[in-house]
Amino acid sequence: MFKNKQVLLAERPKGLPIASTWKFQEVEVPELKEGEILIKQEFISLDPAMRGWMNDSKSYIPPVAVGEVMRCGTVGEVVKANQHATFKVGDFLTGWGGVQQYTTTDGKGYRKVDPKLAPLPLYLGTLGMPGMTAYFGILNVGELKEGDIVLVSGAAGAVGSLVGQIAKIKGCTVIGIAGGPEKCAYIVNELGFDGAIDYKNENIYSGLKKHCPDGIDVFFDNVGGELLNAALTKLRMNARIVICGAISQYNATQKVEGPSNYLSLLVNRATMKGMVVFDFADRYMEAAQQLSVWLKEGKLKSKEDVYEGIENFHSTFLRLFSGEKLGKLILKIAE
Ligand code: NAP
Repeated sequence: MFKNKQVLLAERPKGLPIASTWKFQEVEVPELKEGEILIKQEFISLDPAMRGWMNDSKSYIPPVAVGEVMRCGTVGEVVKANQHATFKVGDFLTGWGGVQQYTTTDGKGYRKVDPKLAPLPLYLGTLGMPGMTAYFGILNVGELKEGDIVLVSGAAGAVGSLVGQIAKIKGCTVIGIAGGPEKCAYIVNELGFDGAIDYKNENIYSGLKKHCPDGIDVFFDNVGGELLNAALTKLRMNARIVICGAISQYNATQKVEGPSNYLSLLVNRATMKGMVVFDFADRYMEAAQQLSVWLKEGKLKSKEDVYEGIENFHSTFLRLFSGEKLGKLILKIAE
């Protein structure tokens, strides 16, 4: 009999989640029904979007219900199967298994991954949802062209670090916005960005003036709020703004802060477009193949920041908002 440690959403948070937002419990895994598999989850993905799914509001997918296992991306191994048509014991699968050590499922929405081709955490980062977001976000939604001047916020994070590197591969000038001198040094020295603005220690408007004297063609925004407002003042003609996320607003207890400088879109015939990665689901293989090639060629660097223990879910999740992590935030939950 398998014991399963789980984290449930206990109440809807106001602002930043607190300890009572979650309920920890240990339950026995029930017997499998015909057509089901049991996945022993090795790693879970901690994503800013999870904060949005905790709100009872209309979004691109339904919210997590109070009392339900918290939704998150997972990667793990099939340890039991009851006459499943596709998956067998020993297969490694990624999907939306939730914050728990074992997931019982009919396998819908899961895809096989190969731990010999890449370490498992990569399937939650560069070869998973953040990688797909960066790839389609900058190339398709951002309509990236060689020679573009690209600004990216959240630049040392899972999505932002890949966006900047892809833009470099495509022959663009790339400026990143990140919090703190270490992250800024990392994106320039390790990832090859052309410049970095430390929004925690530098005025964003003077940072933009210094690093983007000729303006920007593409702004890939993960942060929103004042950074978006500031970037709007530097648009070039026909600029594109990709609204990928707005992490600065996810824990807001007041109204979401909107950009007062939006008339810059009019003056510069610019566009601002929202994206949801799931819209590109039928093309994930194309992105995964290209990202794998760039990884193999050493053109793309992937950084996973892995913490341990399902008991540490709450404190690890908060690192997304404090910024105390580098690259893709992951929690190892297998014991
Ligand atoms: P991430 O960047 O790896 O982690 C979050 C980072 O955001 C933190 O490390 C922190 O970096 C920064 N941050 C947190 N609070 C901030 C604030 N108040 N102001 C400025 N920066 C702040 O996360 P990710 O997984 O790559 O996601 C990045 C964004 O993309 C999020 O907004 C997420 O919701 C969005 N996203 C959207 C889609 C989609 O389909 N639209 C898919 C995936 C992700 P610093 O230390 O630099 O502050």
